[in-house]
Amino acid sequence: MEFINLGRQYEVIKYDVSERIQGVLDSQKFIMGKEVVELENSLASYTNRKYCLTCGSGTEALQIALMSYELERKDAVFVPAFTFFASAESIVLAGGTPVFVDCDESYNIDCENLEKKISNLDANLRAKGIIAVDLFGQCADYTEITKIADKYGLFIVEDGAQGFGGSDHNIKACKFGDISITSFFPAKPLGCYGDGGAIFTDDENKMDVMKSIRIHGMGSGRYDNVRIGLNGRMDTIQAAILLSKIEIFDDEVKKRNEIAKEYTKRLNNKYKTPFVKEGKISSWAQYSLLTDSYEHRKYIIEELSKSEIPCMIYYPIPLHLQSAFGYLNYKRGDLPKCEDYADRIFSIPMHPYLEEQEIDEICGKLINVH
Ligand SMILES: *Cc1c(COP(=O)(O)O)cnc(C)c1O
Repeated sequence: MEFINLGRQYEVIKYDVSERIQGVLDSQKFIMGKEVVELENSLASYTNRKYCLTCGSGTEALQIALMSYELERKDAVFVPAFTFFASAESIVLAGGTPVFVDCDESYNIDCENLEKKISNLDANLRAKGIIAVDLFGQCADYTEITKIADKYGLFIVEDGAQGFGGSDHNIKACKFGDISITSFFPAKPLGCYGDGGAIFTDDENKMDVMKSIRIHGMGSGRYDNVRIGLNGRMDTIQAAILLSKIEIFDDEVKKRNEIAKEYTKRLNNKYKTPFVKEGKISSWAQYSLLTDSYEHRKYIIEELSKSEIPCMIYYPIPLHLQSAFGYLNYKRGDLPKCEDYADRIFSIPMHPYLEEQEIDEICGKLINVH
């Protein structure tokens, strides 16, 4: 069994993907070919955003988004500690300082803790923005986050790397905040066959600045550079692959939701199953369970591996305890909820092509060994 079986999806789209890749080969437009523009239009309409800009990865999307705010070291950007490293790494890459926030029982940023961190900010820092993450596929609480952002005059960047395809009261992920980003890393809900990412906004000025940053701070022409940027383009071949995959994507999100429902029904007597808030539809980038304790998780994982059922721990070390952020002087105990979750959480196979018999096997084993 595989944790994410991309081969089964490939069987479905094989011929279409080959044809589209062949089209790029025939055109020889490997950089900024017509498929890139076609994909950007398609993604903007999918998320109901005015503008979409594709780029080289989710990390790069975050970096471009944050570079547009021209951060200085004293500029604090609030970010949950329970997320993938890139969510906070990008703040430092763009020149700012991350301030870590605890999470709530949905694993997303805890708004109460967020406001506390804003009002107790170090005197040598200046509050500038918030990165909210749609962790495991569930949108963060943008209504609440927006109230806080408005109160303190902060920008919001939505890290929708895992959330793409999800929604909150029928508003799609990557429609929230001033700028949203997503990732097309192969294992994400919508993945390409290499690295890829996208940036979304409704703000024309932001769009112009980010477009310039994406190609070396380009001005009016190719050799007119008006700011420091980077080489952030998406390959045309990756865009062609995504154009094929987006056609089956809604179906896949639906299947993920059916599987998640089945998992929850069978497992919620024994494990703490994911808490999806009212009105939200997750894209189920991960399906995560909580065990009773650190030792309990260790035992469960050993038992699963004996049966060759794959599982993963997202995330074993919250970001405030990562050595790369040692210079910020956080310690264990600072963000108790995410530290506790990091000790007890694990994720089981989740992808749209899981078969009934595999779900039986996974759930049967998990119930038996509990
Ligand atoms: C995967 C991920 C990223 C980074 O995306 P890449 O395409 O791998 O650079 C950023 N944030 C979150 C929450 C992610 O899961």
